[in-house]
Amino acid sequence: MTLLKSWVSSANSPETDFPLNNLPYGVFSSKGTDPRCGVAIGDMIFDCQAAEEAGFIEFDEGPIFDVPFWNEVMELGPKIWAQLRARLAELLGENAKDQEILCNMLTPIADAQMYLPFLVMEYTDFYAGRHHATNVGTMFRGAEHALPPNWLHIPIGYNGRASSVVVSGTDVRRPWGQLKKPEDSLPHFAPCRRFDFEMEIGAIVGSASHGPVSVREADEMIFGYVLLNDWSARDIQAWEYQPLGPFQAKATATTISPWIVTKAALDPFRCNTPKREVKLLDYLKDQGPMLYDIDLEVRLTTQDNHNRTITETNYREMYYSSAQQLAHHSTSGCPMNPGDLLGSGTISGEKPHERGSLLELSWGGKDPVRIAEGVTRSFIEDGDIIEMTGSAKGEGYKIGFGLCSGRVLPALENPYAR
Ligand code: MN
Repeated sequence: MTLLKSWVSSANSPETDFPLNNLPYGVFSSKGTDPRCGVAIGDMIFDCQAAEEAGFIEFDEGPIFDVPFWNEVMELGPKIWAQLRARLAELLGENAKDQEILCNMLTPIADAQMYLPFLVMEYTDFYAGRHHATNVGTMFRGAEHALPPNWLHIPIGYNGRASSVVVSGTDVRRPWGQLKKPEDSLPHFAPCRRFDFEMEIGAIVGSASHGPVSVREADEMIFGYVLLNDWSARDIQAWEYQPLGPFQAKATATTISPWIVTKAALDPFRCNTPKREVKLLDYLKDQGPMLYDIDLEVRLTTQDNHNRTITETNYREMYYSSAQQLAHHSTSGCPMNPGDLLGSGTISGEKPHERGSLLELSWGGKDPVRIAEGVTRSFIEDGDIIEMTGSAKGEGYKIGFGLCSGRVLPALENPYAR
C-alpha cells in the first residue's frame, strides 16, 4: 500500500499522522462551535456534521452526525462503516468534486479543541504483554512466580471504570490512597509516591454481542483503536491488589488519544501473535493476523522542560490480540456493546528501553531513568508531562494516532483533614 493523494496538501506529506489512508474519527470544536464529529486529514479536520447538513454525506438511516460522538456510527455496523469510509475517501481524495465548497468545512487541528471521540460505555483493562507481566511479576512475587499459572492460558483482565477515561490534554491529579510497604506494621493514608504510566492500545468495540463470540467474530466487532495511558498508583496497587486485582490504583484516570484510528486504516499492518508455548483452548486460537505493527513511543517532559523519549516499543509485542481478549470477555455471556473500551495491557518489548512503564524502566525505583544531566525519574513527579505517540509505517506514509498526553498535578491537601 502506498500514499493515497488528497486535495488537502498537508495530507500528502510522508510525515503527517493523517494521510488519506488514515481518516481517523474525532470530536472537536473551534471558534465557539458546539462539539461535533470530524475526520483528521493532514493538519486539518473535516467537519462531518457540516458535510452531512450540506448533503455531502447521506445515509438511509437518517442523520448520523447530529450528535457529538461516534457511537451512533458504530451501532450501524460494519457495512455502514465501510460505506462511510469510502465516501470520506471520495470527498477528500485528489479528484473530489466541489473542492471549493468542501474546503470551507476544514478547520486547522491547531485551532481545535478535542473531546472524547465516543461515549465510553464500559472499560476493561487487560494484562496481555508477556514481557510486562514477567517484569512486574518478578518485582512483586520473585522470578520463580513471575507469570501467574493461568497467564499463558487466559487473557487476564479487570473491570475498570469508564468514568475515569479522559481525552488527551486533560490534567491528572496525583491521588491519595491507602499505602503499606512490606516493612510497615500498619497501613497509612497518603499521596501516592509511585505514580506511573502504562503504554497501551485501546480497542473500541463497535458491535454488540449477547453471548459468546469467536475470535473471528470479535475481530469483526472492533471499530478502531486509540492510544491509551493507564495511569497507575504502584504503591496503592501493591497493597490492595490481592486477591481481587487492581482497584483504586487504576481509578484516577485513563487517558486516550483523541482520534479513533479505524480497523480498516490499520488493515495493511496486521501481524501475528507470537509463538505459543502452551496450546490455547480452541475458543482462543488465533484466526489469522490480529495484532498490528504499530511503533509506540513515550516521552517524559519535566516541569523545567527537560525531556527524553524513555520508551520505544511496538504493539506486535502483545501475547493476546484485542480480538482474543474480546472473545474471552464474552465467554461468560457478558454482553458487549458499542463504545466498550478494552485496554491491551502494558506493551513492553524485551529490551530495557522497550519497557512500557516507569515501574519496569526503573525496576521498581532501583535503577532511575536518566532524563537529562542530573535529572532522573523512578516514578512520575509533579508537573511531569507524559506524551505517547504511535504510528504504523507504510511506503511513503504513516498511520498515526496523534498525541496521548497528560500532565500530573500535585496531590490536593488531605481530603479527610477538613
Ligand atoms: Mn494497564
